Amino acid sequence: MTTFVYTHDDCLQHDTGPGHPESPQRLEAVLAALRAPEFAALHWEPAPLGSVEQVLRVHATPYVEEVRRSAPREGYHLLDAGDTVMSTGTWNAVMRCVGATCAAVDAVVLGRAANAFCATRPCGHHAEADRAMGFCVFNQAAIAALHARHAHGLARIAVVDFDVHHGNGTQHCFERDPDLFFGSSHQSPFYPGTGARHERGVADNIVNIPLERGTGSATFRRLMRDEMLPALRRFAPELVIVSAGFDAHELDPLGGLAFTDDDYAWITRELLAVAREHAGSRVISTLEGGYSAQGLATGAAAHVRTLLQG
Ligand SMILES: [Zn+2]
Repeated sequence: MTTFVYTHDDCLQHDTGPGHPESPQRLEAVLAALRAPEFAALHWEPAPLGSVEQVLRVHATPYVEEVRRSAPREGYHLLDAGDTVMSTGTWNAVMRCVGATCAAVDAVVLGRAANAFCATRPCGHHAEADRAMGFCVFNQAAIAALHARHAHGLARIAVVDFDVHHGNGTQHCFERDPDLFFGSSHQSPFYPGTGARHERGVADNIVNIPLERGTGSATFRRLMRDEMLPALRRFAPELVIVSAGFDAHELDPLGGLAFTDDDYAWITRELLAVAREHAGSRVISTLEGGYSAQGLATGAAAHVRTLLQG
């Protein structure tokens, strides 16, 4: 068994317009890095289209219908106040994101894959039940969690999110369900403004680690080791889903944190260890943010290299 990578050309057809940071070039940088000879052992799978039924486990019917209707024949349609854009290719791109994470869950739970990485875009963790937000249309990490529950009967599912931004959409989807865990490290104060320590969910099933601008490896690792990882072990997930954003990388032009490639390898090793102890080694990961082509390429490579080492 090896690491599966899910991707699809449709994810390059989500056109956000000139100068938008969430560009197709981001995904091209990740794919180029993962096609290096050292990654020859990866197993590549085309991301299937997700189903509306999968999306509706997280998102409200009127919102899903609005997104479907909003796809323009040409040009752009704004889904929120300014930064979440739809183009002709967006519907298929976001349904590939959903299909990728759900197929990754299937492959890992059924024992076909050791673990899996979804190299897809756009990101999903800001998307709320009833609205698009922060470049995100549908929340593929949350959708994958509920897919694992409905399709495979897994009871306790965790999402860990190390994107520089707080995953407000995932938190809001999970916070009232004691069998869902969401842990996030993120820059604070920063977009989207949520993710304070006191936001803990109904059963301490939400763990937020806000980080001051400029925070680097030592503080990140200490807080994860002392707070996040013990809480995750107490929760004892049956599946770990990673919202893998690389915009906390020191090279990132939007984020103000200073993570290194080694930090991404470290946190990936730690999450694999928790999954070995509690979750039968079941880990899937999905690409969230990351706006430096170089930081994305080397950060994602460090993450996937560690997944491949198991
Ligand atoms: Zn982000």
